[in-house]
Amino acid sequence: MINKNFKNIAVELEKERVALVAVSKTKPVEAILELYKEGQRIFGENRVQELAIKHEELPKDIDWHCIGHLQRNKVKQIAPFVSMIHSVDNENLLKEIDKQAEKFERKIPVLLQFHIAEEASKFGLNLEESKLLLSKKVDYPNVQFCGVMGMATFTDDLEKVRTEFKNLKSIFEDLKNSFFADDSDFKEISMGMSGDYKIAIEEGSTMVRIGSLIFGNR
Ligand SMILES: *Cc1c(COP(=O)(O)O)cnc(C)c1O
Repeated sequence: MINKNFKNIAVELEKERVALVAVSKTKPVEAILELYKEGQRIFGENRVQELAIKHEELPKDIDWHCIGHLQRNKVKQIAPFVSMIHSVDNENLLKEIDKQAEKFERKIPVLLQFHIAEEASKFGLNLEESKLLLSKKVDYPNVQFCGVMGMATFTDDLEKVRTEFKNLKSIFEDLKNSFFADDSDFKEISMGMSGDYKIAIEEGSTMVRIGSLIFGNR
């Protein structure tokens, strides 16, 4: 049953040329391996400890994405291998990622997380904060800025969700023009989850993060 949903979504996303981050948080390695055997390579986790353990146990050609709120003191645990950090929302975190990336002699790809939802609980930058941060981007030579990430409000009001995704897209365009006009790495808009990924794709998502729809409820 897992596989049938997964296959349908994978085909749909391939047609749209949108990347799938299979969100495997709380799911056992067996469930991840099942999708791996179907060809899935990008998996997303929101807890550092779980991410590190799964990386250890599973095939090394998996791209692990850190999608959840990340504490500065935990960066070092994932710095050697993480393929992308979706949740950069402050300068101190960025400094630490840069430092750890240098230590492991690599560049770490990141997305800037924006607060686009109505809920106060969700993390993220606003446009002004992100511009301040990016005005100093030369200070982070070991960080590769790849784009933006956001989560819409959890609501049945799909027009509201659409408006929030439109907002993230326009933030992306603004930053692209202002800071990354000559940088082809800055190209990702990570938006869309199980309940709203179709709307996200219509509004320009390049990367969706889908968990429960393919792995079942948590
Ligand atoms: C859990 C999670 C998802 C996936 O949520 P589903 O509704 O299960 O698809 C996506 N993004 C983030 C940041 C998450 O924490």
